[in-house]
Amino acid sequence: MSAITEHTQALVIGGGPAGSTTATLLARNGVDVTLLELSRFPRYHIGESLLPSILPIMDLLGAREKMDNYGYTRKEGAYLEWGRERWPLNFGEMAGDRTYGFQVIRSEFDHMLLKHAAEQGVKVFEGIEVRSLHFDGDRPVRASYLIKGENGNAGQLGEITFDYLIDASGRKGVMANYYLHNRRFHDVFKNIAIWGYWKDYDKMGTGRAGDIAVGSIPNGWLWGIPLHDGTISVGVVMHKDAVAAKRGISQEEIYCEAIESSTLISNILKNATMTSQLKTETDYSYTAEQFSGPGYFLCGDAACFLDPLLSSGVHLATFSAMLAAASISSILSGEVTEQEASNFFEKSYRQAYLRFLVFLSAFYDINRGRDAYFWEAQRLTPADVDANNLKAAFLTLVTGLKDMNDAQTDTHHFVLEMMSKRIDENLNFRKDKQVLETLEGEQLAQKNENANFFSSVEGFFALNKEEAVDGLYVSTDPQLRLARVA
Ligand SMILES: Cc1cc2nc3c(=O)[nH]c(=O)nc-3n(C[C@H](O)[C@H](O)[C@H](O)COP(=O)(O)OP(=O)(O)OC[C@H]3O[C@@H](n4cnc5c(N)ncnc54)[C@H](O)[C@@H]3O)c2cc1C
Repeated sequence: MSAITEHTQALVIGGGPAGSTTATLLARNGVDVTLLELSRFPRYHIGESLLPSILPIMDLLGAREKMDNYGYTRKEGAYLEWGRERWPLNFGEMAGDRTYGFQVIRSEFDHMLLKHAAEQGVKVFEGIEVRSLHFDGDRPVRASYLIKGENGNAGQLGEITFDYLIDASGRKGVMANYYLHNRRFHDVFKNIAIWGYWKDYDKMGTGRAGDIAVGSIPNGWLWGIPLHDGTISVGVVMHKDAVAAKRGISQEEIYCEAIESSTLISNILKNATMTSQLKTETDYSYTAEQFSGPGYFLCGDAACFLDPLLSSGVHLATFSAMLAAASISSILSGEVTEQEASNFFEKSYRQAYLRFLVFLSAFYDINRGRDAYFWEAQRLTPADVDANNLKAAFLTLVTGLKDMNDAQTDTHHFVLEMMSKRIDENLNFRKDKQVLETLEGEQLAQKNENANFFSSVEGFFALNKEEAVDGLYVSTDPQLRLARVA
């Protein structure tokens, strides 16, 4: 391994999807990038189900062929048993094309991305912990790091200066937790996830082999994610108070009881054997109050985290990475000022997060009334997101419902109700496959609206001139950058 230089143009903390994506995109634009990662890869990580938005990101990274040919499970959609509803979702139908996502073993996926970053010119160093940051006023300018010793040997300390910092340190949140002190937990989604891996499982009776299975139970919900090594990842998400109330009952019993409560998941596992220890994560949802500032950008989980129901984590990580790389590239080329880029990043990333937040809560809202406690606890309160932001997120999401004038008194409840209604309508619409194939006129328009509705949550809206933020949007012509609306 060559030595870490004393100075770099862009320093990236963390080699997860957010870090390696930002680093690769910057390196492909000719920026000198150093990435420091605490672990030695491959390392375990949860977050295995990827949305179709991974495809345009892989194209941008120049890694699409690697992704398609690796052998990951191809995910064409999902099969849900959500309350009384049962339905297969097909990403192609949602987006109006033949798109797909993947189920990945994260140790392999993250390693693939990190190796790709090195191949694209990023100076990647593993086993290096960023210990502290040093500031010039509010601007981070220098990092102290520890090269971890092997076989119990003491490590070696070092320092590196930089022009721009990308904090992609995940939940550790170096900037938000230790310097900005601005990570705020929401009142909603105070959930716990418990998961493990199984072999010799039965395929789902419905849906396609690679689909994610999602089954609700009275106290929460379960996922089943088929992986390419022949195992399936099965997890349960419950409210932390419900788990705490089961004092005296082992985690394994809570997990098995949850599986038994879901017909969908228990059928899949009826002949299966568990191959791992159980793992757990307390799944609070949080955001930093500020995502960027002088010379720094917070990407992925380092900025914000959302309950895993919609599999939004890697999407938000790579989306924010794209925004940060476009922003820094355009600052360096003189196309935008630091202030403009910082505003653009802040607003675009927060908008993407808010869209998922509102959508997620509305999705949970469909099951409200089945078990008051769990489902009620997933409802947004004004403290989670201020009413104006909620309203803005809603308006940009739901293209067909523009009149919010009568919603002033209790915006957050009104918004959730309308979102749930909208999701219901879209799901019902999608369920009727025959209708989908013979659409004309108004129904065809409804199908297109349906596709717009989902792509406005899961799509890369910042790449769209029509969604420009303060006159700026992300362009890939001739290379990734921020462009101005003419
Ligand atoms: C139960 C659960 C289920 C989930 N399921 C899904 C799912 O199905 N689909 C999905 O898309 N997302 C899912 N997620 C979310 C997903 O795991 C994350 O959103 C995603 O990994 C974020 O990527 P990241 O690059 O921001 O952070 P990470 O992947 O966490 O990477 C951060 C990296 O920074 C390194 N680091 C930390 N501190 C330092 C330091 N001081 N110096 C150097 N390096 C450092 C870490 O070692 C780590 O490798 C799930 C999350 C949970 C909790």
